[in-house]
Amino acid sequence: MEKQNFDLVVIGAGPGGYVAAIKGAQVGLKVCLIEKNFLGGTCLNVGCIPTKTLLANAHVLHKIHHAADYGITTGPISFDYGKMKTRKDSVVEKMRRSLEGLIQSNGITIFRGHAEFLSPREIKVKGHDNVIVTAGKTIIATGSEPLDIPAFPCDHKRVFNSSSILELTTLPKTLAIIGGGYIGCEFASLFSDLGVKVIILEALSSIVSLQGKTVAESLTRAFVKKGIEIQTGVMVEGIDHANNLSIRLKDKPPVTCDMALVSIGRKIISSGLGLEKAGVAVSERGMIDTNDKMETNVPGIYAIGDVTGKFMLAHVASHQGIVAAANAANKPARMHYNAVPAVIFTNPEIATVGMTLEQAQEAGYNATIGKFPFLALGKSVAAIETDGFAQVVVDRKNGQILGAQVVGSEASTLIAEMGVAIANELTLDCITDTIHAHPTVAEAWLEAALMANDTPIHFPPKVKR
Ligand SMILES: Cc1cc2nc3c(=O)[nH]c(=O)nc-3n(C[C@H](O)[C@H](O)[C@H](O)COP(=O)(O)OP(=O)(O)OC[C@H]3O[C@@H](n4cnc5c(N)ncnc54)[C@H](O)[C@@H]3O)c2cc1C
Repeated sequence: MEKQNFDLVVIGAGPGGYVAAIKGAQVGLKVCLIEKNFLGGTCLNVGCIPTKTLLANAHVLHKIHHAADYGITTGPISFDYGKMKTRKDSVVEKMRRSLEGLIQSNGITIFRGHAEFLSPREIKVKGHDNVIVTAGKTIIATGSEPLDIPAFPCDHKRVFNSSSILELTTLPKTLAIIGGGYIGCEFASLFSDLGVKVIILEALSSIVSLQGKTVAESLTRAFVKKGIEIQTGVMVEGIDHANNLSIRLKDKPPVTCDMALVSIGRKIISSGLGLEKAGVAVSERGMIDTNDKMETNVPGIYAIGDVTGKFMLAHVASHQGIVAAANAANKPARMHYNAVPAVIFTNPEIATVGMTLEQAQEAGYNATIGKFPFLALGKSVAAIETDGFAQVVVDRKNGQILGAQVVGSEASTLIAEMGVAIANELTLDCITDTIHAHPTVAEAWLEAALMANDTPIHFPPKVKR
């Protein structure tokens, strides 16, 4: 087999790997990127982008259904889910092509095939390209895949995982979603807005429990209002296939549906990579342990993204990629996780960054919140988008912003301001001293900060003056 030498070899071309490769090339390294499947990884092909494309379709439909509220008369409303799926495929295809061009324009060599370590410095590529690459430094960015449960395996005809459900061209009447984490909830929101009866089955005591109590309660209320059925504290034992699917629950009556989505977590991809030959240590669940420089236990080998098990979000993978590539080029950089934004693209949208009130109190802060409802904001009333709120979590001692949560229209965009605030340890004064354009939904941060200071302008004072 032919041998080629590179300064930096990146395994996996998801948002972690391709960003690391570009950063490596930018700082002058000779880089190769190995991908066994499609460029863009989970995010571009079966994750962030396809789901957000389908959600954008559902958002338009939702608006059309409410057109009368804006004084617009429509005729009978119908849609073709097959065409929505085709649009999703063409968005993914278009972005894949432009990503390939971007990678090539940075002078990065792409090898297509499965990568496997032969030793700490040698990697065999097998597939479309067959080559042995020797690497000065290596970044492992092999990501994750849907977790399949032997008790109720996916047949991808009626029982799907988050990847195969994206291939549907017609909608079921009833869909049971096993798992009420953020991925399950995004699909619940999507299919419910398209008229499917959705039932969420969640083992924990609430949906999106990782996002804190306030957010979980808000989303639950919004989902129930939409007609989504939520069963919490239920254990799925199996799925019986007859005319309909029957989902067996422990100590509860079964749930009948046409289709089911299993969305109970992700499996880390670290096996079949020859990590033992490279000496890279892997934890019990397959995660590769890294320090804040994204170094593994083997000098010169880094790991980033979902394979590290930290946050499992595309933008975290990309940021880790930049840190790892900088370190690989001997330009010291470190990861900080105090200001990681997380967005759930449900309708309503949910976005969080930093600590919830409960987390701040547990961490020993004398914390309080300032919470402003969109109902009291001119732009939200004008747009008929009054559901939800923006909330800041603050250290009473010095006014430092510790966290922020926002539920409602444009939450995904709004969270950026608080990301900057928390990453740079800003205080409430920094927000209240900043002129926010009027009328915008971003004024919600100004108002929430004023509320935390007990000096609201567009909200009645706690005690009547
Ligand atoms: C339905 C869904 C929706 C999501 N929505 C969002 C969202 O809105 N926002 C967000 O931030 N995150 C979202 N995520 C999560 C996000 O997709 C992942 O966190 C992100 O893709 C992780 O990036 P990564 O580079 O670590 O791995 P991946 O994107 O999984 O890429 C890893 C790549 O490595 C390749 N690979 C694996 N092993 C080998 C090998 N041995 N040789 C060669 N190549 C290999 C794989 O083929 C893959 O292309 C979503 C995920 C899902 C499933």
